[in-house]
Amino acid sequence: MTKYLAKIGLEMHCEMSETNTKVFSAARNEYSESPNTNVRPLDMGFPGTLPVVNKEAVRLALMASMILKCSQPEYMYFERKNYYYPDMPKNFQITQETKPIPVGIYGEVLFECGDELKKVRVNNIHLEEDAASLDHFFSTSNIDYNRAGVPLLELVTEPDIHSAKEAVAFLEHMRSVYQYAGISEADSKKGQIRCDVNISLMDAELDESNPENWGTRTEIKNVNSFGGVRDAINYEIERQTEVLENGGIVEQETRRWDEESGTTIRMRSKADAIDYKYFVEPNIPKFRITEEWLDEIRKTIPELAMDRKKKYVSDYGLSSYDAGVLVKEKAISDYYEECVKVGIDAKVAANWVTVNIVGELNKENITIKEFYITPVMLKQIIDGINEGLLSSKQAKEVFFKAIEERKEPKNFISKDNAQISDKDELARIIVEILDNSPSQIEQYKGGRDNLFDYFVGQVMKSTRGKANPVMTKEILHEELDKR
Ligand code: ADP
Ligand code: MG
Repeated sequence: MTKYLAKIGLEMHCEMSETNTKVFSAARNEYSESPNTNVRPLDMGFPGTLPVVNKEAVRLALMASMILKCSQPEYMYFERKNYYYPDMPKNFQITQETKPIPVGIYGEVLFECGDELKKVRVNNIHLEEDAASLDHFFSTSNIDYNRAGVPLLELVTEPDIHSAKEAVAFLEHMRSVYQYAGISEADSKKGQIRCDVNISLMDAELDESNPENWGTRTEIKNVNSFGGVRDAINYEIERQTEVLENGGIVEQETRRWDEESGTTIRMRSKADAIDYKYFVEPNIPKFRITEEWLDEIRKTIPELAMDRKKKYVSDYGLSSYDAGVLVKEKAISDYYEECVKVGIDAKVAANWVTVNIVGELNKENITIKEFYITPVMLKQIIDGINEGLLSSKQAKEVFFKAIEERKEPKNFISKDNAQISDKDELARIIVEILDNSPSQIEQYKGGRDNLFDYFVGQVMKSTRGKANPVMTKEILHEELDKR
């Protein structure tokens, strides 16, 4: 039986949510509001309207191109991709197809997949406009033009991905890049990320670097969730394996992912491929991308997740795992950095954020931006611990109480509930308890070691939990040894 190697290439579309306006019109770039409210005549394809290129969209696209180690074009222009579909009233999409006009060509992405570092080559990244969105009902469909003209970045990889796991790790990495670079929220739940997945199988014994050894690919169009990408790949690998095992040949065709049945379904074969009749968009003059502008953009590339992760491990002494949890979402990493900035110890802050805070966000299903406790408030709790006013248990109680009552933690921290860390006072309490427990002491001395916890419990009971636990144990051992 032949062993197969899957070759997977992705065409990842990401809406750039961080520009104020659309890519060729002055309509606001906000399509989650009421349908058809952020629309200009251009977005509706009215005759006589002319596109104006959004400089910020080009700037961010060029920044993405640099992060992906692509080369940038000297000149830029756009092209028309002609087709008819109700979501595109102009009957063409303005895009970039012919090299070297895209915002970037020939780069690479390094990303973590489990414990491994993987590399995927980038064929190109280009800037285009999104189509309107269609809502299908029983017998009618509604069109929302809010999405028409939203800037869209399309990243085309070489088929260097080999499994569903790698594909998802790649997409998660790219989502993080877009978020950290301020290009997009890259929220797949909002439909901001959509992928075409190309898959083929080849004989695993043959040389992968020679394209002649690659198998025939199928293309799965418009998969709109990471889970969908994972399942579609796994399904398609299985389907193609079966075709090949039975002596058949994989046809080059376009398929779609059907979420409901969990299968891919044939749409059309390559022979029926659409001819888009590309030509240069005549209403957008070719414009120069100067070296000065590129240098300026290069200087503004922000610190990305991988850089922050390295910093957390080397400068803050965090484990690679904790650092990974912290940088996964930019907003959480920003929150963590703010904690360190206000003076919380980096390790202590990491522990609070990754355990208590992320736990609370998950439980309440809210984002860190909606979370009540600010880094400054968290510091009040940490100071309480450091000053001996709170045990770690009490600190957690204060944390939850502050969230529940929406009052700053300092309101719940006072000298009254301070931990008892005074050695003489603790010794006095412990001696009194032991004096009143002769039979338990006898049993303890007779070998019932677990009675030690009973004594600790008695101390906690009589101090209402305020006794410093470490000191309590120390003194108990001393006093019991004396008897
Ligand atoms: P098209 O315009 O027909 O979609 P492209 O050359 O733009 O073709 O390729 C689209 C995607 O298909 C790219 O991501 C590329 O890596 C991928 N691809 C090309 N050949 C194969 C193959 N044999 N197996 C898997 N993916 C492939
Ligand atoms: Mg394609």
